[in-house]
Amino acid sequence: MKTIRRRAFLLQALGTSAAGVLWPLCPATRTAADESHSLKMAATGTSTPDADLLNQARRIHQAALIVDSHVDIFGTQYATPQLDPGVDNPDLRCDLVKMAAGGVDGVFLAVYTGQGPRNSEAYREVHAKALKLLEAIRRVPRQYPDRCERALSPDDVERIVKSGRRAIMIGMENGYPIGTDLANVEKFYHLGVRYITLSHNGHNQICDSCIPKAELGDKAGEHNGLSPFGRQVVAEMNRLGMMIDVSHVASTSLRDVLALSKAPIIASHSGCKAIYSHPRNLDDDELRALAAGGGVVQVVTVPEFLKKPVSEETADATIEDFMDHLDHAVKVAGIDHVGIGSDFDGGGGVPGFNNHAESLDVTVALLQRGYSQTDIEKIWGGNLLRVWREVQKLGGR
Ligand SMILES: [Zn+2]
Repeated sequence: MKTIRRRAFLLQALGTSAAGVLWPLCPATRTAADESHSLKMAATGTSTPDADLLNQARRIHQAALIVDSHVDIFGTQYATPQLDPGVDNPDLRCDLVKMAAGGVDGVFLAVYTGQGPRNSEAYREVHAKALKLLEAIRRVPRQYPDRCERALSPDDVERIVKSGRRAIMIGMENGYPIGTDLANVEKFYHLGVRYITLSHNGHNQICDSCIPKAELGDKAGEHNGLSPFGRQVVAEMNRLGMMIDVSHVASTSLRDVLALSKAPIIASHSGCKAIYSHPRNLDDDELRALAAGGGVVQVVTVPEFLKKPVSEETADATIEDFMDHLDHAVKVAGIDHVGIGSDFDGGGGVPGFNNHAESLDVTVALLQRGYSQTDIEKIWGGNLLRVWREVQKLGGR
């Protein structure tokens, strides 16, 4: 699918152990000139692949456009000496070194704000914070122009990847910083935001969340879906050609968005309720409806969403549980409507797929479950980019 001549990968398989992943870290001093991607292999939780399968996985992984639709950044200190994504940073599951090591071509980094009170002062504060987080993400390509570039469109992604660098995209997790001024949607668009997750945990001015926040006085349902302002936000995002993200929103909100949106929608990081009944996961009807609208569900790796924890401290999900959700999503929504949104650095990560350096493991697991090269290319980025293109086109871009 990718007619891109990339630097030769140096692919080496490493041993695995049942107890954990063996990960020699990449040198922090690696530069673009020395970007021989060292895809590493740690098949924790999967059966050890034979050499043929591993070679096939490497070939497919190299050829595919690998995009993760949801990664967090921890806060405004991101891309400062306190939290540098340009090195193999032990505090980050996604940084430029791990992306290169795992052959990850592009990532949506999230401008995340937790839900708070809805009054003019709180809106002013959260808006200011969102601008700072946006600036933090925009620092990355400015600091490392030889290794990455900000992508504003699927064409940008392809051009940047072709140049041997990584594409950095911006998503906004929670529409709270839009406040009550619809013009802010366009303002964020012009600052590079390409999707907005309408809510986080807690209802907001746009819609109901799947997880109400009792401490904010949330009732089970407040708007019973989209608010009148939320309906305007959806229309405005359609007009701008911006992707609408329904991860975190209530079923009633999802229903309203599907009815109202003229463009396909995404769930940037969600799982399947049929595999594990968690409020953050989508049921089969929702998966089908999302697919019928041309959208895509990006399967998440947050252990608490994948499997019932043994205890509060012990999340015991593995890459196989992640694959169970992915398989189910494909079975119900179809192969053209499923992708991957890890939520690394926001709670995501399971043994076998704990950071971007381990991305080849997912391709191995997909092969082991019988997916073809075409299927894998769709799952790893093809579907998401198709939806993004469609959303842009409908927005006249
Ligand atoms: Zn989230």
